[in-house]
Amino acid sequence: MEGYAKRVHDPYFQPPLQSAIVSGVSLGSCVWVPGPVIVGAGPSGLAAAACLKNQGIPVLILEKTNCIASLWQIKTYDRLCLHLPKQFCQLPFMPFPKDYPNYPTKQQFLAYLEAYAKNFDLNPVFNTMVVKAEYDGVFGFWRVQTKVTEYVSRWVIVATGENAEEVVPKIEGMNEFIGPILHTSSYKSGDCFENKNVLVVGCGNSGMEVCLDLCNYNACPSVVVRGSLHVLPQEMLGRSTFGLSMWLLKWFPVRVVDRLLLFASHFMIGDTDRHGLNRPKLGPLELKNVSGKTPVLDVGTLAKIRSGDIKVYPGIKRLARNNVEFVDGRIEKFDAIILATGYRSNVTTWLKDTNSFFEKDGFPTKPFPEGWKGECGLYAVGFTKRGLLGTSMDAAKIAEDIACQWNTDKKHLKSLRHQPPKLSVYIDS
Ligand SMILES: Cc1cc2nc3c(=O)[nH]c(=O)nc-3n(C[C@H](O)[C@H](O)[C@H](O)COP(=O)(O)OP(=O)(O)OC[C@H]3O[C@@H](n4cnc5c(N)ncnc54)[C@H](O)[C@@H]3O)c2cc1C
Repeated sequence: MEGYAKRVHDPYFQPPLQSAIVSGVSLGSCVWVPGPVIVGAGPSGLAAAACLKNQGIPVLILEKTNCIASLWQIKTYDRLCLHLPKQFCQLPFMPFPKDYPNYPTKQQFLAYLEAYAKNFDLNPVFNTMVVKAEYDGVFGFWRVQTKVTEYVSRWVIVATGENAEEVVPKIEGMNEFIGPILHTSSYKSGDCFENKNVLVVGCGNSGMEVCLDLCNYNACPSVVVRGSLHVLPQEMLGRSTFGLSMWLLKWFPVRVVDRLLLFASHFMIGDTDRHGLNRPKLGPLELKNVSGKTPVLDVGTLAKIRSGDIKVYPGIKRLARNNVEFVDGRIEKFDAIILATGYRSNVTTWLKDTNSFFEKDGFPTKPFPEGWKGECGLYAVGFTKRGLLGTSMDAAKIAEDIACQWNTDKKHLKSLRHQPPKLSVYIDS
């Protein structure tokens, strides 16, 4: 093991046994990986891998499920389209096909990701969950453990996503409620909720869209809106609200852009406070910067709220057999509850992060644009709270940084190879 450890920094190291995995050398259940180990084969893991391969650096991608982009394949509803226009969601080096609509469907996005993986010859190791990753300060490499194998590498790239685990709130009386209670990650369509009273808890983009979907399947949805939120039209002045905001930010400070957005929203969709959707004091972009809370981009739900097809309730006090009591004292009957209560990062459950690069919430301590690089070869991609645009920026920076180390080592080792044998014996011993 010590011999291999000394070769960790040698990119020319040719292992005596070729393992099936990126030319790693297998030492029983321990595999030496010459390039970085990427944890997670979602869009972020794929983007980082493509950028590294483009620099000529081999990668090993470990993915706990049996497919790429498991969030999109397994945990999203049928009617989902990208919330942002395609030009802001494309991964490095490969734009979306020209014939794709502005907001590609989930199936189109998945087809794009499959093509991306194929194009860059990315072959994640599936059904391989990382249970622990720890830096070994003695040998100067990372030990990345799965249930059966330990992978050893100089670099670990965390790409497990901001949405790795469902957030399921504890609500009083949850066990008494006789109808189904499910998280949006298990919701596919309103098909089985026809004529049912369904309470959607949470009013982010997913909660709002699930309400609309339920309406389209002739269910009777209600939505719980506990705090305040910004609802903006998805498009303004013939442009996407997101694109327009990005453009305005080039010229004006964030507060001015917020005022312009709120003015245009008021003009287009009216006063949302009247419908129980109270606006926060901070503007939508400032709030996003401060708290990471994303404004809801309306895709038709607001019209259904206005027409009374979707009812709005305040927070829940408790559940009972087949009804829900709200904090304002109202009690209503419901057949099912859908929790649109979001997700959380799982990094702290498996990464032993002695340098506190990650906070307790599983996000990097330093906010965007600083949160991509930790110490001792630790990197994070896709934790910017800025969607796939943030992912692409992280991926490019990580690949450049690792390429610098990779190439410096290569030069260094080349020059050592021309030194008297004493030195090279030290390197190779
Ligand atoms: C409903 C919905 C709609 C969205 N729409 C948009 C949009 O329009 N535009 C946009 O920019 N963003 C959008 N997002 C944000 C979304 O997070 C990103 O689009 C994208 O999925 C993030 O990619 P990721 O690779 O960082 O994370 P993920 O897609 O979550 O991928 C992480 C991968 O890591 C794997 N993994 C987790 N833990 C382990 C482990 N311990 N070991 C091995 N593998 C592990 C997971 O199985 C998963 O495959 C949306 C999110 C949701 C939920």
